[in-house]
Amino acid sequence: MIKFILNNELIETDAPSGTAMLDFIRKNQQLKGAKLVCKEGECGACSAMVGQLINGKVAYQSMTSCIMPLINANGKHIVTVEGFNMNKLSPVQQALVDTYGSQCGFCTPGFVVSMSGYLLSNSQLTKEGIIESMDGNICRCTGYKSIERAADIILKKAKRDFKKVSVNALADKGYLPSYFKTIPKRLAAIKIAKTKNAKGVKLGGGSDLYVQKPWEMYEKNAVAVYDNPAMNKITVKNGVFEFGAALTMGDLYRSPEFNKAIPNDGHMFKLLSSTQIRNMSTIGGNLINASPIGDFTCILLGLDASIVLNKNGKRRTVALNTFYKGYKKMEIKKEEILEKVKFKIPSKNTTFHFEKVSQRKYLDIATVNFSSSITLDKSKKIKDIHLAVGGVGPIPMYLHTTVKFLKNKEMSSDTIDDAIEVLQNEITPISDTRGSADYKRLVARQLFLAQFLNLDANIYDVKKLVGAW
Ligand SMILES: Cc1cc2nc3c(=O)[nH]c(=O)nc-3n(C[C@H](O)[C@H](O)[C@H](O)COP(=O)(O)OP(=O)(O)OC[C@H]3O[C@@H](n4cnc5c(N)ncnc54)[C@H](O)[C@@H]3O)c2cc1C
Repeated sequence: MIKFILNNELIETDAPSGTAMLDFIRKNQQLKGAKLVCKEGECGACSAMVGQLINGKVAYQSMTSCIMPLINANGKHIVTVEGFNMNKLSPVQQALVDTYGSQCGFCTPGFVVSMSGYLLSNSQLTKEGIIESMDGNICRCTGYKSIERAADIILKKAKRDFKKVSVNALADKGYLPSYFKTIPKRLAAIKIAKTKNAKGVKLGGGSDLYVQKPWEMYEKNAVAVYDNPAMNKITVKNGVFEFGAALTMGDLYRSPEFNKAIPNDGHMFKLLSSTQIRNMSTIGGNLINASPIGDFTCILLGLDASIVLNKNGKRRTVALNTFYKGYKKMEIKKEEILEKVKFKIPSKNTTFHFEKVSQRKYLDIATVNFSSSITLDKSKKIKDIHLAVGGVGPIPMYLHTTVKFLKNKEMSSDTIDDAIEVLQNEITPISDTRGSADYKRLVARQLFLAQFLNLDANIYDVKKLVGAW
C-alpha cells in the first residue's frame, strides 16, 4: 500500500506503484488543477510540490507529476495547485491576476505551484531564484513578461512581510493554508512497510522511463531505488567524493560538498533540464539510461569516475570509462543495482570544465556535450587529463586515444592542433535531427578547444580556424 498526504488529505492506495502521479491526481482524486499537456515533463503544467520530512522539517521540491511514479510519493506530502487554495487568493495568485499573468490558463496552475513552492522551499528570496523556480514552466500566451512582473510583486511583498521565510510565517501571513503547519507531525505518523526482495523495474525518478515507455510503466511493479537511504548519501574521505546513485541532479546542485569538490557557479546545472526535472533525475538513472548525450554521464566521465554495482550485497567497482560497450549496452548484470558513484576530487592543479551545445540553450538535450579534467605541472606540461564527449558516437565517450595522445605533452597551440586530428579520428558522429555529422564534428572541435581556452585564453589563436571547416 502506498501512503502519502495529498494537499490536506491522507491517501492510502493500492493503485499500481507505477501509476503516473498526474493520472492518480486527476482520475482517482478528481483534482483537475494540474494539467495534462506534454506528458513528457517538459512544459510544467502538471507541476506539484513534493515535501519530504527530514530532521523534523519538511523540505519541498517541485516535480512534474506527469512523469512522477506514484511509488515515489510514499511517505511524502504532495501539493497540487488546489493545495495552495484558501478562502481568498494567495499573494501569488493575486499577483498573477493583477499583472494579467494568465491568459488561456492552461499553464497557470504550474506557475502558481512553482512560485508558491519557491517561497515554501527557500529562506533567502532573490529575483534570480524566483525566476529560476519557473525554468520548467512553459507559457504560450503571455510572453513571460507579465509573469515576471508578478514575480517582482510577490518578491517585494514577501521581503516586506518576512524577516525570515518559514512555513509557519507563510501560513500566518496568508501565503499558505494553515494546514501546512500540521504536515510535519502527520508525515511522521505515516508508517511505510519495508518491502523485502522487491522485483520489478528499477525506478529512479522516472524521468526517462515515463517518457520512453509510459504505458508499460503503469502496469509494472517498480523497485523504487529513489528513496533507498543507502543510496542517498554523500561521503568525502581521503580526497574521494562518493555519493549514492539515487541522489538527483538537484541534490548535487544544492550540495555544499559537491560544489566545494567541483567549484562551479551553478551555470553547469542550469544547462541540465529544468528545476522540476533536476529534482527527479537521479544520477543512477542518467548513467543507466546510457544516452550518448546524457549530461551527467559526460560530467562523470570527465571526472574519471567509477561506479559500484551491487547484487544482493555482492559489490564490484567498475571504471565508468569501460562501462559502455555499445549503443545502450553496458557492463551491468540483470539483478545488479548501480549503488554508488565515486571520483577523485580534482586537486588545486586540476581544472574541471563542462560545456554543452543544444538547439535551445535551456531545457533541451545536448547536440554535443564535452567535459574534461586537466592537470598541468609547473612548466605547463599536461600531467594528467580526462576527456569525455557526448553526441558523437553510439555511447557517451571517454576519449581514450586523445587522452593517451595528450598525456605528458606540452600544452601548446601545436599540440592542440595535432590533438584535434586525433579527436576527429576517434569520434563517429551521425546526422540526425540534432544536426549533421559535419556540424557535430565542428561543435566537438570547438568544445574541445574550449577546455583549453578555459585554462589559458591565449593558448590558442581561434582566428586561424575561421573558414577551416
Ligand atoms: C523534460 C526533460 C528534460 C531532460 N533534460 C535532460 C538534460 O538536459 N540532460 C540530461 O542528461 N538528461 C536530461 N533528461 C533525461 C533524464 O532526466 C535523465 O537521464 C535522468 O537523470 C534520468 O534519471 P531518473 O532517475 O529519472 O531515471 P529513470 O527513468 O528512473 O531510470 C532510467 C533507467 O535507469 C534505470 N535505473 C535507474 N536507477 C537505477 C539504479 N540505481 N540502478 C540500476 N538501474 C537504474 C532504470 O531502470 C531505467 O532503465 C531530461 C528528461 C526530461 C523528461
